[in-house]
Amino acid sequence: MPDQKTNHDAKVKTIAQQIRKALAKRRPIHIHKGGVSHFVPLPGDSRFRGEPIDISSLNNILEIDLQQRICRAEPGISFSELVKETLKVGLAPTVVPELEGITLGGAVAGCSVESMSYKYGGFHDSALEYEVITGDGEIVTCSPSKDPLLFNMIHGSYGTLGILTQLTFRLIPAKPFVKLAYKRFDHFEPFERALFQACQSGAPFDFIDAIAHTPQDFVLCLGEFADSAPYTNNYRWLNIFYKSTLARKEDYLTTYDYFFRYDTECHWLTRTIPFMEKRIPRLLFGKCLLGSTRLIQWSMRLKWLLELKKRPDVVCDVFIPSKRFREFFLWYREEFDFYPLWVIPYRIPRIYPWVSDPHAARMKDDLFIDCAIYGKPNSDARIDYSILLEKKTLEFDGIKTLISRNHFTRQEFWTIYHQENYQKAKKRLDPKGLFPDLYEKFHPSQTPCSTKFFRENSASH
Ligand SMILES: Cc1cc2nc3c(=O)[nH]c(=O)nc-3n(C[C@H](O)[C@H](O)[C@H](O)COP(=O)(O)OP(=O)(O)OC[C@H]3O[C@@H](n4cnc5c(N)ncnc54)[C@H](O)[C@@H]3O)c2cc1C
Repeated sequence: MPDQKTNHDAKVKTIAQQIRKALAKRRPIHIHKGGVSHFVPLPGDSRFRGEPIDISSLNNILEIDLQQRICRAEPGISFSELVKETLKVGLAPTVVPELEGITLGGAVAGCSVESMSYKYGGFHDSALEYEVITGDGEIVTCSPSKDPLLFNMIHGSYGTLGILTQLTFRLIPAKPFVKLAYKRFDHFEPFERALFQACQSGAPFDFIDAIAHTPQDFVLCLGEFADSAPYTNNYRWLNIFYKSTLARKEDYLTTYDYFFRYDTECHWLTRTIPFMEKRIPRLLFGKCLLGSTRLIQWSMRLKWLLELKKRPDVVCDVFIPSKRFREFFLWYREEFDFYPLWVIPYRIPRIYPWVSDPHAARMKDDLFIDCAIYGKPNSDARIDYSILLEKKTLEFDGIKTLISRNHFTRQEFWTIYHQENYQKAKKRLDPKGLFPDLYEKFHPSQTPCSTKFFRENSASH
């Protein structure tokens, strides 16, 4: 598609110019990708300050190579738009994050995983090449063989090293339906055994995740692609997916509806507006209020309400090494006690180079359990559950995603993340510190978006 390529190159040049202008003005920036961001809104949020670099035009699929099962696309396309196209030709990405508005660029920079991750790892693990605009406005490509450090450090960089402008990644064969079987357990131990057994290599499943509905009610959800279905259900309006896993033993969904099965309630965040879980309000208002993108838009409009709360609810994913999952859950049951807890097994092909060597040595596992906690109220003056979760995740040798509140000291942070590798990538991709530094971007007590790096470099400009 030569026109697509010319068009893409022109858009990238324009964005590179914006970067060079911001650099000349010595203004810190943030990436404005359009659509909604899957970040927990925080009072006095500093993450979106700085001059916006508008990359919202980068939202096209550039090529789907049917022979090689490879896709080339721009980072702003959402998984929903992408899978609509790939499913037409019987293909799918190896990882499809469950909310319709999550984009390819956000999935790489923010470490997305989902129910195929037990087999394929995170979305980044399917990538073959990235095109990136650096903080100098240079356009570079990197891959596992060309500049592997840059390629791997873009993963989990949360918009602090450069702007991803094009991704090339693998696709897998997909069928039109998914058959789900639900196995129910009333104790953690047999649930954990069944989960680990299902994840063993050679397992016949295409999808594995689980929901702890209560400490005595676990549902393991095992999915397989199917060519046909005796019936299909969908959970886009009156019916609620996570509740259906308690009521049914099996289910059939179209593959598209399966991928976005948690989208309508943004997992179970509508529980904070309890009437939206009731049938009549859903019948009347469901179509205009439900769906992750709308719910996030509403939460942004009502951000001022957050100021009335002592703290925002805990919304966070933590990756716990499987060998410590039991200990983690026993602690979680005693002290956290918030359900549903979403459980997603996640096999990493190797420890990522953004994890520090000492932390990697402690983790020593290839199967992780993503425990996704969506909406624990956190207004109790006696305890800040966000801080507690962060501390315990570290104690259990896990990694916490940075999408919500973060509390680490600088020193603690760099015992988990690989400072040397990060600085090497920063020096190559963003030597003048136009993008915020990873620690500073997510720790509000630090000067936001105006990194020490940037200040030092602009002083010598
Ligand atoms: C309520 C909630 C529910 C979630 N549910 C799921 C889920 O079901 N499954 C799942 O896998 N994940 C889930 N996540 C996590 C989600 O995958 C990550 O937060 C992901 O990063 C969101 O991507 P986005 O496209 O919305 O990007 P944004 O949220 O806008 O950005 C994420 C980060 O990536 C950076 N970034 C974005 N685009 C680019 C680019 N082109 N170049 C460089 N950096 C870029 C941004 O600067 C930012 O730091 C959830 C998060 C929340 C808050």
